[in-house]
Amino acid sequence: MTQQRQLILEQLQKRSDHPGADEVYDKVREFLPKISLGTVYRNLELLSEAGYIQKLFFKGQKRFDPRTDQHHHFCCTNCGKVEDIPFPIDTPDIDSGSDWLKQREIQEVHLHYLGLCPDCKQSQ
Ligand SMILES: [Zn+2]
Ligand SMILES: [Zn+2]
Repeated sequence: MTQQRQLILEQLQKRSDHPGADEVYDKVREFLPKISLGTVYRNLELLSEAGYIQKLFFKGQKRFDPRTDQHHHFCCTNCGKVEDIPFPIDTPDIDSGSDWLKQREIQEVHLHYLGLCPDCKQSQ
């Protein structure tokens, strides 16, 4: 792993807010002022392909998560904040007798709960 990639990973591991590439870039730039957004983006992609981090999609936007274990997320539909749900949730069973499912192999299940975070709920 390159020093650059190590730094990007460390910066992401410090946060639990599931930042997008541009937010990681803003932080990494404090240490490596010459780094480009493209480089940060490429490194985040490589880290997620290698299994060091997880890539998520919310509202068509890519977000990065230093946690790679299976867990579920809450996304605020008002401010876009993404949080980990702090307790385990049973994932719903889907009918395993269906042909659609027999043709496929499910490897992961991600549940996204959408709604209002405490701040947005209060200001409504
Ligand atoms: Zn919110
Ligand atoms: Zn997460």
